Amino acid sequence: MDEPVYNLPPPLLSAYRHGCWVVRTSNPALLPVELTEQDFERLIAVQLLSLEADSEAFNAWAPGLLIELVMSDPANEYPLLYRHTNLLDNHPVRVIIPVQPGFIKAVKVAVSLDFAVRLDVKQPDAALIEELVAALEFYLHQPTVAQPIEFFHGVLLGFYHDDPIPLWAIQEEDPQYLRYIADDGAESCYGRLAGNDDCNALRVAEADLQRWIDQVLATATDCRRCEFLRSCGGYFKWPQQNYNCAEVRRLFGKIRAAAVELRRDLEMVSELN
Ligand code: SF4
Repeated sequence: MDEPVYNLPPPLLSAYRHGCWVVRTSNPALLPVELTEQDFERLIAVQLLSLEADSEAFNAWAPGLLIELVMSDPANEYPLLYRHTNLLDNHPVRVIIPVQPGFIKAVKVAVSLDFAVRLDVKQPDAALIEELVAALEFYLHQPTVAQPIEFFHGVLLGFYHDDPIPLWAIQEEDPQYLRYIADDGAESCYGRLAGNDDCNALRVAEADLQRWIDQVLATATDCRRCEFLRSCGGYFKWPQQNYNCAEVRRLFGKIRAAAVELRRDLEMVSELN
């Protein structure tokens, strides 16, 4: 990816005639009308911000386009996911689930409906870490899980291939490329770096992600000594630099152990064949 990706609402599309777009809306009926044929060249995904909305207008529109269902209250909204299963007839669909108390219910329902999942995780406290561990166990050991649950999936693959991908990339928050355009037109970094001045400098400098991990994103002393630096990239030290990563490192350790076990199992199978 070498073009900027703008997350923006439909009224601002005309101001961004370059790069790629992730268009967010709460009104699916309007979007097929608001976008022109030319706009499809830039469109890489649509985010539906209200699960209460009727997504029927998306069903046969722009086949193959990624639709993201953005949850805000997963513990209570998860029954609404059933309303959107028809989207799978023509689209890859992913549910963005904020890591909040009770989020695992939404994870289980989303996966059972064959939706992919991306966990929107901030700086989880001890209780949320336990829920993340339970979600990880579900992802690793539940045979019916057929869709990726990010960030577990990307981190697991990184350990498995001994080629870690920083969470900034797995979570699609690479500050070099991703920009968030607020409804009032204000432009900022995306996700946990929103409003951060260093992040704005990143983009101007056009450095690659690894350089910014080295120079800005993972500069906390803890990160320098962290055995999971290559997989994390300092992701959990934002926005609060004094966040204690002990429990997060336990989570990374579990994913690494699962990757080692997976590799060993596959090697045994291949020796038997
Ligand atoms: S787990 Fe914490 S200490 Fe380790 S690299 Fe990530 S943010 Fe830094």
